[in-house]
Amino acid sequence: MNKVIVNESKVSGKKVLLRCDFNVPYDESGEISDTRRIDESLKTINFLVKNGAKVIICSHFRRPHGVVNPSMSLKKAAECLSSKIGQEVKLAKDVIGESAKSIVSNLSNGEVCMLENLRFEIGEENNDIEFAKQLASLADIYVNDAFGACHREHASLVGVPKLLPSYCGFLIKKEVETISGVLDNPKRPFISILGGAKVSDKIGVIENLVDKVDAFIIGGGMTYTFMNALGYGIGDSICEKSKLGLAKDILALTKEKGVKLLLPVDSKVGREYKCDTESMIVDSDKIPEGWQGLDIGPRSIKIFSDELANAGSVVWNGPLGVSEWENFADGTFSIARVLSESNAKTIVGGGDVAAAVNKAGVASKMYHISTGGGASLMFLEGKELPAIAALPNK
Ligand code: AMP
Repeated sequence: MNKVIVNESKVSGKKVLLRCDFNVPYDESGEISDTRRIDESLKTINFLVKNGAKVIICSHFRRPHGVVNPSMSLKKAAECLSSKIGQEVKLAKDVIGESAKSIVSNLSNGEVCMLENLRFEIGEENNDIEFAKQLASLADIYVNDAFGACHREHASLVGVPKLLPSYCGFLIKKEVETISGVLDNPKRPFISILGGAKVSDKIGVIENLVDKVDAFIIGGGMTYTFMNALGYGIGDSICEKSKLGLAKDILALTKEKGVKLLLPVDSKVGREYKCDTESMIVDSDKIPEGWQGLDIGPRSIKIFSDELANAGSVVWNGPLGVSEWENFADGTFSIARVLSESNAKTIVGGGDVAAAVNKAGVASKMYHISTGGGASLMFLEGKELPAIAALPNK
Protein backbone atom coordinates (compact mmCIF):
# COMPACT_ATOMS: atom_id res chain seq x y z
CA MET A 1 0.00 0.00 0.00
CA ASN A 2 1.37 3.40 -0.94
CA LYS A 3 0.10 5.31 2.13
CA VAL A 4 2.22 6.33 5.11
CA ILE A 5 1.29 3.90 7.88
CA VAL A 6 1.25 5.02 11.51
CA ASN A 7 4.58 4.18 13.21
CA GLU A 8 6.06 4.31 16.70
CA SER A 9 8.51 7.13 16.04
CA LYS A 10 5.65 9.58 15.50
CA VAL A 11 3.21 8.91 18.32
CA SER A 12 4.91 8.87 21.72
CA GLY A 13 3.55 11.66 23.95
CA LYS A 14 1.48 13.02 21.07
CA LYS A 15 -2.23 13.72 21.08
CA VAL A 16 -3.49 11.44 18.32
CA LEU A 17 -6.92 12.00 16.78
CA LEU A 18 -7.93 8.49 15.67
CA ARG A 19 -10.90 8.28 13.28
CA CYS A 20 -12.64 4.92 13.77
CA ASP A 21 -15.89 3.53 12.41
CA PHE A 22 -17.92 2.53 15.46
CA ASN A 23 -21.20 2.70 13.58
CA VAL A 24 -22.10 -0.77 14.88
CA PRO A 25 -25.44 -2.63 14.83
CA TYR A 26 -27.59 -2.91 17.95
CA ASP A 27 -30.20 -5.53 18.90
CA GLU A 28 -33.75 -4.85 20.12
CA SER A 29 -32.60 -4.66 23.75
CA GLY A 30 -30.22 -1.82 22.89
CA GLU A 31 -26.99 -3.83 23.12
CA ILE A 32 -24.30 -3.95 20.43
CA SER A 33 -25.08 -7.05 18.36
CA ASP A 34 -21.86 -7.23 16.34
CA THR A 35 -18.60 -5.78 17.68
CA ARG A 36 -16.53 -6.58 14.57
CA ARG A 37 -15.79 -2.93 13.76
CA ILE A 38 -14.59 -2.32 17.32
CA ASP A 39 -12.58 -5.57 17.41
CA GLU A 40 -10.89 -4.76 14.11
CA SER A 41 -9.81 -1.33 15.36
CA LEU A 42 -8.01 -2.77 18.39
CA LYS A 43 -4.72 -3.34 16.60
CA THR A 44 -4.25 0.39 15.95
CA ILE A 45 -5.64 1.46 19.34
CA ASN A 46 -3.42 -0.96 21.28
CA PHE A 47 -0.42 0.11 19.20
CA LEU A 48 -1.04 3.77 20.07
CA VAL A 49 -1.55 2.95 23.77
CA LYS A 50 1.58 0.82 23.93
CA ASN A 51 3.63 3.55 22.30
CA GLY A 52 2.53 6.23 24.77
CA ALA A 53 0.13 8.26 22.64
CA LYS A 54 -2.76 10.24 24.09
CA VAL A 55 -5.53 8.64 22.06
CA ILE A 56 -8.59 10.70 21.08
CA ILE A 57 -11.07 8.45 19.27
CA CYS A 58 -13.77 9.94 17.08
CA SER A 59 -16.52 8.21 15.11
CA HIS A 60 -19.95 8.76 13.66
CA PHE A 61 -22.97 6.69 14.67
CA ARG A 62 -26.16 6.50 12.59
CA ARG A 63 -27.71 9.69 11.20
CA PRO A 64 -28.49 12.39 13.77
CA HIS A 65 -28.06 15.05 11.01
CA GLY A 66 -26.28 17.66 13.10
CA VAL A 67 -28.61 17.42 16.09
CA VAL A 68 -27.62 16.07 19.50
CA ASN A 69 -29.68 12.92 20.01
CA PRO A 70 -28.98 10.90 23.18
CA SER A 71 -30.24 7.70 21.52
CA MET A 72 -27.33 8.00 19.09
CA SER A 73 -24.62 8.49 21.71
CA LEU A 74 -21.36 6.56 21.47
CA LYS A 75 -21.77 5.56 25.16
CA LYS A 76 -22.12 1.81 24.49
CA ALA A 77 -19.21 1.86 22.05
CA ALA A 78 -17.01 3.56 24.67
CA GLU A 79 -18.03 0.97 27.29
CA CYS A 80 -17.40 -1.89 24.88
CA LEU A 81 -13.98 -0.51 23.96
CA SER A 82 -13.10 0.01 27.65
CA SER A 83 -13.73 -3.66 28.37
CA LYS A 84 -11.72 -4.76 25.34
CA ILE A 85 -8.61 -2.69 26.07
CA GLY A 86 -8.79 -3.07 29.85
CA GLN A 87 -8.79 0.62 30.69
CA GLU A 88 -11.38 3.33 31.05
CA VAL A 89 -12.33 5.14 27.85
CA LYS A 90 -13.76 8.48 28.98
CA LEU A 91 -16.54 9.69 26.69
CA ALA A 92 -16.77 13.46 26.20
CA LYS A 93 -20.24 15.00 26.36
CA ASP A 94 -19.61 16.83 23.09
CA VAL A 95 -17.41 16.71 19.99
CA ILE A 96 -15.42 19.95 20.01
CA GLY A 97 -16.86 21.70 23.07
CA GLU A 98 -15.67 22.31 26.65
CA SER A 99 -16.12 18.67 27.70
CA ALA A 100 -13.97 17.36 24.83
CA LYS A 101 -11.27 19.99 25.42
CA SER A 102 -11.14 19.30 29.14
CA ILE A 103 -10.95 15.50 28.77
CA VAL A 104 -8.25 15.80 26.09
CA SER A 105 -6.15 18.21 28.16
CA ASN A 106 -6.21 15.79 31.10
CA LEU A 107 -5.12 12.73 29.08
CA SER A 108 -1.85 11.07 30.12
CA ASN A 109 0.37 9.10 27.75
CA GLY A 110 -1.22 5.72 26.95
CA GLU A 111 -4.74 6.86 27.91
CA VAL A 112 -7.75 6.76 25.62
CA CYS A 113 -10.80 9.00 25.39
CA MET A 114 -13.67 9.24 22.92
CA LEU A 115 -15.47 12.26 21.48
CA GLU A 116 -19.26 12.14 21.14
CA ASN A 117 -20.87 11.21 17.81
CA LEU A 118 -19.25 13.36 15.11
CA ARG A 119 -22.61 13.73 13.35
CA PHE A 120 -24.01 15.66 16.32
CA GLU A 121 -22.13 18.50 14.58
CA ILE A 122 -23.61 19.62 11.25
CA GLY A 123 -20.10 20.47 10.03
CA GLU A 124 -19.12 16.79 9.89
CA GLU A 125 -21.31 15.68 6.98
CA ASN A 126 -21.04 19.12 5.31
CA ASN A 127 -17.25 18.77 5.31
CA ASP A 128 -17.09 22.21 6.90
CA ILE A 129 -13.55 23.54 7.12
CA GLU A 130 -14.20 25.46 10.36
CA PHE A 131 -15.43 22.27 12.04
CA ALA A 132 -12.43 20.37 10.67
CA LYS A 133 -10.12 23.06 12.12
CA GLN A 134 -11.70 22.78 15.57
CA LEU A 135 -11.47 18.99 15.48
CA ALA A 136 -7.85 19.14 14.34
CA SER A 137 -7.00 21.65 17.08
CA LEU A 138 -7.61 18.95 19.69
CA ALA A 139 -4.64 16.89 18.46
CA ASP A 140 -1.04 16.88 17.21
CA ILE A 141 -1.45 14.15 14.61
CA TYR A 142 -4.27 12.31 12.85
CA VAL A 143 -4.70 8.62 12.10
CA ASN A 144 -7.54 7.30 9.95
CA ASP A 145 -8.61 3.70 10.59
CA ALA A 146 -12.30 4.07 9.70
CA PHE A 147 -12.36 1.89 6.58
CA GLY A 148 -16.16 1.60 6.68
CA ALA A 149 -16.49 5.39 6.31
CA CYS A 150 -13.74 6.01 3.73
CA HIS A 151 -16.20 6.46 0.86
CA ARG A 152 -17.53 9.59 2.60
CA GLU A 153 -16.20 13.11 2.05
CA HIS A 154 -16.82 14.28 5.58
CA ALA A 155 -14.80 16.73 7.68
CA SER A 156 -13.19 14.13 9.97
CA LEU A 157 -12.20 12.03 6.93
CA VAL A 158 -11.04 14.43 4.23
CA GLY A 159 -10.88 17.81 6.01
CA VAL A 160 -8.68 16.98 9.02
CA PRO A 161 -5.88 15.27 7.00
CA LYS A 162 -5.30 18.61 5.26
CA LEU A 163 -4.58 20.19 8.64
CA LEU A 164 -2.50 17.70 10.63
CA PRO A 165 0.37 15.29 9.95
CA SER A 166 -1.68 12.27 8.93
CA TYR A 167 -1.26 8.51 8.82
CA CYS A 168 -3.13 5.41 7.74
CA GLY A 169 -4.10 2.89 10.44
CA PHE A 170 -3.64 -0.87 10.40
CA LEU A 171 -7.28 -1.75 9.66
CA ILE A 172 -7.39 0.32 6.48
CA LYS A 173 -4.06 -1.19 5.48
CA LYS A 174 -5.42 -4.73 6.03
CA GLU A 175 -8.69 -4.06 4.17
CA VAL A 176 -6.98 -2.47 1.17
CA GLU A 177 -4.23 -5.08 0.90
CA THR A 178 -6.56 -8.04 1.39
CA ILE A 179 -9.25 -6.92 -1.06
CA SER A 180 -6.81 -5.70 -3.70
CA GLY A 181 -4.75 -8.88 -3.24
CA VAL A 182 -7.73 -10.93 -4.42
CA LEU A 183 -8.86 -8.48 -7.11
CA ASP A 184 -5.39 -8.08 -8.63
CA ASN A 185 -4.22 -11.66 -8.33
CA PRO A 186 -7.21 -13.97 -7.92
CA LYS A 187 -7.00 -17.71 -7.66
CA ARG A 188 -9.29 -18.99 -10.43
CA PRO A 189 -12.09 -19.55 -11.06
CA PHE A 190 -12.87 -16.11 -9.67
CA ILE A 191 -16.58 -15.59 -8.99
CA SER A 192 -18.48 -12.51 -7.89
CA ILE A 193 -21.78 -13.00 -6.07
CA LEU A 194 -23.97 -9.92 -6.21
CA GLY A 195 -27.29 -9.51 -4.48
CA GLY A 196 -29.22 -6.84 -2.63
CA ALA A 197 -32.11 -4.72 -3.65
CA LYS A 198 -31.04 -2.81 -6.73
CA VAL A 199 -29.07 -3.29 -9.95
CA SER A 200 -28.25 0.41 -9.95
CA ASP A 201 -26.17 0.02 -6.75
CA LYS A 202 -24.08 -2.79 -8.26
CA ILE A 203 -23.64 -1.62 -11.85
CA GLY A 204 -20.25 -0.01 -11.15
CA VAL A 205 -19.03 -3.26 -9.58
CA ILE A 206 -20.14 -5.32 -12.57
CA GLU A 207 -18.47 -2.93 -14.99
CA ASN A 208 -15.21 -3.04 -13.04
CA LEU A 209 -15.20 -6.79 -12.41
CA VAL A 210 -16.30 -7.97 -15.84
CA ASP A 211 -12.68 -8.00 -17.00
CA LYS A 212 -11.48 -9.78 -13.87
CA VAL A 213 -13.99 -12.51 -12.95
CA ASP A 214 -14.90 -15.79 -14.60
CA ALA A 215 -18.53 -15.66 -13.51
CA PHE A 216 -21.17 -13.52 -11.83
CA ILE A 217 -23.82 -15.09 -9.64
CA ILE A 218 -26.81 -12.80 -9.28
CA GLY A 219 -29.48 -13.00 -6.59
CA GLY A 220 -31.64 -10.74 -4.45
CA GLY A 221 -34.03 -8.10 -5.70
CA MET A 222 -31.78 -7.15 -8.61
CA THR A 223 -32.58 -10.54 -10.19
CA TYR A 224 -35.98 -9.33 -11.32
CA THR A 225 -34.77 -6.31 -13.26
CA PHE A 226 -32.65 -8.76 -15.29
CA MET A 227 -35.58 -11.19 -15.66
CA ASN A 228 -37.84 -8.38 -16.82
CA ALA A 229 -35.17 -7.18 -19.25
CA LEU A 230 -35.16 -10.72 -20.68
CA GLY A 231 -38.91 -10.40 -21.23
CA TYR A 232 -40.08 -12.72 -18.43
CA GLY A 233 -43.04 -12.24 -16.12
CA ILE A 234 -41.87 -11.15 -12.67
CA GLY A 235 -45.24 -10.61 -10.97
CA ASP A 236 -44.94 -7.95 -8.26
CA SER A 237 -41.20 -8.44 -7.70
CA ILE A 238 -39.03 -5.39 -7.14
CA CYS A 239 -37.89 -4.03 -10.50
CA GLU A 240 -36.08 -0.89 -11.61
CA LYS A 241 -37.97 -0.11 -14.79
CA SER A 242 -35.59 2.73 -15.63
CA LYS A 243 -32.66 0.29 -15.57
CA LEU A 244 -34.01 -2.32 -18.00
CA GLY A 245 -31.75 -0.97 -20.76
CA LEU A 246 -28.79 -1.11 -18.43
CA ALA A 247 -29.61 -4.70 -17.47
CA LYS A 248 -29.74 -5.62 -21.18
CA ASP A 249 -26.37 -3.91 -21.70
CA ILE A 250 -24.86 -5.94 -18.85
CA LEU A 251 -26.25 -9.19 -20.27
CA ALA A 252 -24.77 -8.30 -23.68
CA LEU A 253 -21.43 -7.20 -22.19
CA THR A 254 -20.92 -10.38 -20.16
CA LYS A 255 -21.83 -12.48 -23.21
CA GLU A 256 -19.39 -10.56 -25.39
CA LYS A 257 -16.60 -10.98 -22.83
CA GLY A 258 -17.35 -14.68 -22.31
CA VAL A 259 -18.13 -14.17 -18.62
CA LYS A 260 -20.87 -16.40 -17.21
CA LEU A 261 -23.81 -14.63 -15.57
CA LEU A 262 -25.98 -16.98 -13.54
CA LEU A 263 -29.47 -15.86 -12.59
CA PRO A 264 -31.63 -17.88 -10.18
CA VAL A 265 -33.77 -20.37 -12.11
CA ASP A 266 -36.31 -20.53 -9.30
CA SER A 267 -37.48 -18.15 -6.59
CA LYS A 268 -39.23 -18.31 -3.26
CA VAL A 269 -42.05 -15.85 -3.75
CA GLY A 270 -44.29 -14.17 -1.20
CA ARG A 271 -47.76 -12.67 -1.43
CA GLU A 272 -46.65 -9.47 0.26
CA TYR A 273 -43.41 -7.82 1.37
CA LYS A 274 -43.81 -9.20 4.90
CA CYS A 275 -41.76 -11.65 6.96
CA ASP A 276 -44.64 -14.07 7.59
CA THR A 277 -46.36 -13.78 4.22
CA GLU A 278 -47.69 -16.86 2.42
CA SER A 279 -44.92 -18.28 0.20
CA MET A 280 -44.18 -20.85 -2.52
CA ILE A 281 -41.42 -21.86 -4.93
CA VAL A 282 -41.82 -21.00 -8.62
CA ASP A 283 -39.64 -20.69 -11.73
CA SER A 284 -38.05 -17.23 -11.77
CA ASP A 285 -39.21 -16.62 -15.34
CA LYS A 286 -42.87 -17.34 -14.52
CA ILE A 287 -43.67 -15.43 -11.36
CA PRO A 288 -47.46 -15.03 -11.20
CA GLU A 289 -49.12 -11.66 -10.72
CA GLY A 290 -49.77 -10.98 -7.05
CA TRP A 291 -46.50 -12.65 -5.95
CA GLN A 292 -43.00 -11.27 -5.52
CA GLY A 293 -39.58 -12.94 -5.50
CA LEU A 294 -38.03 -12.66 -2.03
CA ASP A 295 -35.35 -15.38 -2.09
CA ILE A 296 -33.64 -17.75 -4.51
CA GLY A 297 -35.18 -21.23 -4.67
CA PRO A 298 -33.70 -24.70 -3.97
CA ARG A 299 -32.71 -25.46 -7.58
CA SER A 300 -30.84 -22.16 -7.78
CA ILE A 301 -29.09 -22.93 -4.48
CA LYS A 302 -27.94 -26.24 -5.98
CA ILE A 303 -26.74 -24.67 -9.26
CA PHE A 304 -24.94 -21.82 -7.46
CA SER A 305 -23.40 -24.25 -4.96
CA ASP A 306 -22.05 -26.46 -7.77
CA GLU A 307 -20.58 -23.40 -9.48
CA LEU A 308 -18.96 -22.25 -6.23
CA ALA A 309 -17.65 -25.66 -5.18
CA ASN A 310 -14.50 -25.30 -7.26
CA ALA A 311 -14.07 -21.52 -7.00
CA GLY A 312 -10.62 -20.20 -6.20
CA SER A 313 -11.73 -16.72 -5.14
CA VAL A 314 -15.10 -15.19 -4.39
CA VAL A 315 -16.19 -11.63 -3.69
CA TRP A 316 -19.70 -11.38 -2.31
CA ASN A 317 -21.70 -8.22 -1.84
CA GLY A 318 -25.43 -8.13 -1.11
CA PRO A 319 -27.80 -10.85 0.20
CA LEU A 320 -29.49 -13.29 -2.20
CA GLY A 321 -32.91 -12.65 -0.67
CA VAL A 322 -34.51 -10.76 2.18
CA SER A 323 -32.10 -12.46 4.56
CA GLU A 324 -33.23 -10.39 7.56
CA TRP A 325 -36.39 -12.55 7.51
CA GLU A 326 -36.00 -16.22 8.48
CA ASN A 327 -38.55 -17.26 5.84
CA PHE A 328 -36.47 -15.77 3.02
CA ALA A 329 -32.93 -16.28 4.33
CA ASP A 330 -32.33 -19.82 3.06
CA GLY A 331 -30.52 -18.80 -0.13
CA THR A 332 -28.08 -16.45 1.60
CA PHE A 333 -27.43 -18.85 4.49
CA SER A 334 -27.00 -21.91 2.24
CA ILE A 335 -24.47 -20.12 0.03
CA ALA A 336 -22.62 -18.89 3.15
CA ARG A 337 -22.36 -22.51 4.33
CA VAL A 338 -21.19 -23.74 0.92
CA LEU A 339 -18.45 -21.10 0.87
CA SER A 340 -17.40 -21.96 4.42
CA GLU A 341 -16.76 -25.55 3.28
CA SER A 342 -14.94 -24.64 0.07
CA ASN A 343 -11.28 -23.77 -0.36
CA ALA A 344 -12.12 -20.49 -2.05
CA LYS A 345 -10.74 -17.26 -0.64
CA THR A 346 -14.03 -15.53 0.09
CA ILE A 347 -14.33 -11.81 0.68
CA VAL A 348 -17.62 -10.70 2.16
CA GLY A 349 -18.71 -7.06 2.10
CA GLY A 350 -21.82 -5.28 3.30
CA GLY A 351 -23.74 -5.46 6.56
CA ASP A 352 -26.48 -7.86 5.45
CA VAL A 353 -24.17 -10.59 4.17
CA ALA A 354 -21.79 -10.14 7.12
CA ALA A 355 -24.76 -10.51 9.51
CA ALA A 356 -25.96 -13.65 7.67
CA VAL A 357 -22.49 -15.19 7.73
CA ASN A 358 -22.36 -14.50 11.48
CA LYS A 359 -25.82 -15.93 12.09
CA ALA A 360 -24.95 -19.03 10.06
CA GLY A 361 -21.97 -19.48 12.39
CA VAL A 362 -19.43 -19.54 9.56
CA ALA A 363 -17.78 -16.12 9.94
CA SER A 364 -14.46 -17.63 11.05
CA LYS A 365 -14.34 -19.71 7.84
CA MET A 366 -14.35 -16.67 5.55
CA TYR A 367 -11.05 -15.35 4.23
CA HIS A 368 -12.08 -11.76 4.91
CA ILE A 369 -15.21 -10.03 6.17
CA SER A 370 -14.88 -6.37 5.32
CA THR A 371 -15.88 -3.79 7.93
CA GLY A 372 -17.11 -1.66 5.05
CA GLY A 373 -20.41 -1.88 3.15
CA GLY A 374 -20.46 1.20 0.92
CA ALA A 375 -16.69 1.50 1.20
CA SER A 376 -16.03 -2.06 0.03
CA LEU A 377 -18.54 -1.58 -2.79
CA MET A 378 -16.70 1.55 -3.96
CA PHE A 379 -13.46 -0.41 -3.75
CA LEU A 380 -14.94 -3.17 -5.93
CA GLU A 381 -15.95 -0.45 -8.40
CA GLY A 382 -12.24 0.20 -8.81
CA LYS A 383 -12.49 3.75 -7.46
CA GLU A 384 -10.17 5.40 -5.02
CA LEU A 385 -11.91 6.06 -1.71
CA PRO A 386 -11.81 9.81 -0.96
CA ALA A 387 -10.72 9.45 2.67
CA ILE A 388 -7.86 7.15 1.68
CA ALA A 389 -6.89 9.48 -1.16
CA ALA A 390 -6.73 12.29 1.43
CA LEU A 391 -3.93 10.51 3.33
CA PRO A 392 -0.32 11.23 2.36
CA ASN A 393 1.50 8.85 0.03
CA LYS A 394 4.83 7.28 0.99
P1 AMP B 1 -28.10 -3.77 -0.64
O1 AMP B 1 -27.94 -2.75 0.44
O2 AMP B 1 -28.30 -3.19 -2.01
O3 AMP B 1 -27.06 -4.84 -0.61
O4 AMP B 1 -29.50 -4.43 -0.36
C1 AMP B 1 -29.77 -5.14 0.79
C2 AMP B 1 -31.25 -5.25 0.94
O5 AMP B 1 -31.79 -5.93 -0.20
C3 AMP B 1 -31.66 -6.06 2.14
O6 AMP B 1 -32.32 -5.21 3.04
C4 AMP B 1 -32.60 -7.10 1.57
O7 AMP B 1 -33.74 -7.26 2.35
C5 AMP B 1 -32.97 -6.54 0.22
N1 AMP B 1 -33.40 -7.61 -0.70
C6 AMP B 1 -32.72 -8.72 -1.01
N2 AMP B 1 -33.44 -9.49 -1.84
C7 AMP B 1 -34.59 -8.84 -2.09
C8 AMP B 1 -35.74 -9.13 -2.86
N3 AMP B 1 -35.81 -10.25 -3.57
N4 AMP B 1 -36.76 -8.24 -2.85
C9 AMP B 1 -36.67 -7.12 -2.14
N5 AMP B 1 -35.60 -6.77 -1.38
C10 AMP B 1 -34.58 -7.63 -1.35
